[in-house]
Amino acid sequence: MKKKVLVIEDNEQNLYLTTFLLEKNGFAVVSAKNGHEGILAANEIRPDMILLDIQLPQIDGYTVARRLRKNRELDNVPVVAVTSYAMVGDRERALESGCSGYIEKPINPDTFISEVKKYFKEAVEKKGEDKK
Ligand code: MN
Repeated sequence: MKKKVLVIEDNEQNLYLTTFLLEKNGFAVVSAKNGHEGILAANEIRPDMILLDIQLPQIDGYTVARRLRKNRELDNVPVVAVTSYAMVGDRERALESGCSGYIEKPINPDTFISEVKKYFKEAVEKKGEDKK
């Protein structure tokens, strides 16, 4: 079965590129254009990973991450912030909000998938440790 990635992203171009790269590499993609939609989708479809843009309309990515983390059924789902390099302090805030890590914007098509896979691997390892 294909792994499902929920992409919460309001920018068309970023969403297009992210979706293209993920699908090309065998992932199934579900997208949401704002935080509210993203939280609903996460609860509904139980994705294997959530890629979360931080700069979103209405509620920002930090708030979305904190709300996602309240749902214990999503405990093992990595939430990866997608933040622009210029935003100093974003990463720390993202981690404090419950994100598992971050991927830098602009998306680098050459490294994006390996970063996604790295977070999948970390999540699997973490799940194994929790069981011990
Ligand atoms: Mn955005």
